[in-house]
Amino acid sequence: MSNAVSAENEGPGAIPGLLHLSGPCVYVAGSQGVSMTQTMPIGAVIAPVTPLQQNCTIVWCAKTLKAAVIDPGGEVDRLLKAIADKGLTLEKIWITHGHMDHAGGAAELKARTGVPIEGPHKDDQFWIDRIQDSGEMYGMPEARIFVTDRWLDDGDTVTLGETEFEVFHCPGHTPGHVVFFHRETKFAQVGDVLFQGSIGRTDFPMGNHQDLIDSITQKLWPLGEDVRFVPGHGPMSTFGAERRGNPFVGDRVVAAMKAQGAGFTIPKNNSPG
Ligand SMILES: [Zn+2]
Ligand SMILES: [Zn+2]
Repeated sequence: MSNAVSAENEGPGAIPGLLHLSGPCVYVAGSQGVSMTQTMPIGAVIAPVTPLQQNCTIVWCAKTLKAAVIDPGGEVDRLLKAIADKGLTLEKIWITHGHMDHAGGAAELKARTGVPIEGPHKDDQFWIDRIQDSGEMYGMPEARIFVTDRWLDDGDTVTLGETEFEVFHCPGHTPGHVVFFHRETKFAQVGDVLFQGSIGRTDFPMGNHQDLIDSITQKLWPLGEDVRFVPGHGPMSTFGAERRGNPFVGDRVVAAMKAQGAGFTIPKNNSPG
């Protein structure tokens, strides 16, 4: 299953500027270990949006072609065109956290399509209230405050066509940050919780470094080393690769942190989100 979600930049139906994650998935079944190829239950493309190159992802149920946009930070026209070009029907808008590069386009996308917004966790309301102000500060005057149709909490599930994603509340970067996880394909969208080689910033109001470490090590790591994730910014990685090499949450770093307690020096964090 390690190739359950394979990333490619080109191929049939490729849309320029989008990173395509769809492709066949090989399952091994039966007592004789007979291989059979099945179509993957979900498809996904990453569409980096806003000057902060935030990884907005369009995911869809392969059976029904119903789609969700995770973290529409902006560039709504482009997202709608990508959805139409792939023959998908938008059904949901999912938000990992209330920062404007992740959620600044949610209100417009909802107004133009009528689909509901799900997420983030209610503790991010104060960030949602600031979307317009921070949008003006970061050169995104079109960023707008939105009203969610459903706050999400740890253990919730969100449905998309005939498939579903699990929700994990992962505070630390923001208090109401959630992560979306598709167990069958071992695919996660983690927003600004974890990056390839880094973790989310915790120097914002209500950020908390220890909460973030706990979210990653206690909620994400148990999902499996073979989980491939889309971070809020930058390239994809796997939980296993980060456990081996991440300078903030790698297994060796976490063990050293525990051994040294308060005396442990947190490495300097230059993460993008
Ligand atoms: Zn971000
Ligand atoms: Zn953020």
